Amino acid sequence: MSSSPFLPLPPGLEIVSVETVDDLLKVQVASTKERAFCPLCHCPSERRHSHYTRVVADRPCADFRVQLILHVRKFFCETVDCSRKIFTERLPAFVEPWARVTVRLRQALEAVGIAPLCFAVLWPCPPMR
Ligand SMILES: [Zn+2]
Repeated sequence: MSSSPFLPLPPGLEIVSVETVDDLLKVQVASTKERAFCPLCHCPSERRHSHYTRVVADRPCADFRVQLILHVRKFFCETVDCSRKIFTERLPAFVEPWARVTVRLRQALEAVGIAPLCFAVLWPCPPMR
């Protein structure tokens, strides 16, 4: 399943599977792009290093909370004079690097003015010692 009208994805991402757990939709999403661009030198690479999963929250769908499990790949940068030897593929229009929510969820929260409160709940400050 490449995408769904209920859960549109940008080109290059596809839904691998969907599982419901109570009121949570767990959606496995994988990249289908053949290559990624090094964020430092901007050169393309098709040489894969490894992959890992990233969990991000997305906008709710039909009263279900949505959790995306992104299968993200790492690539070798093959540019000789680039200092970045391994990089993670970027999904800038969809999920920013190190973000725990999709761009569209963040924008929806910002539109109603509760993003700072949500971020404080999701990532509270460590206790003071
Ligand atoms: Zn590079």
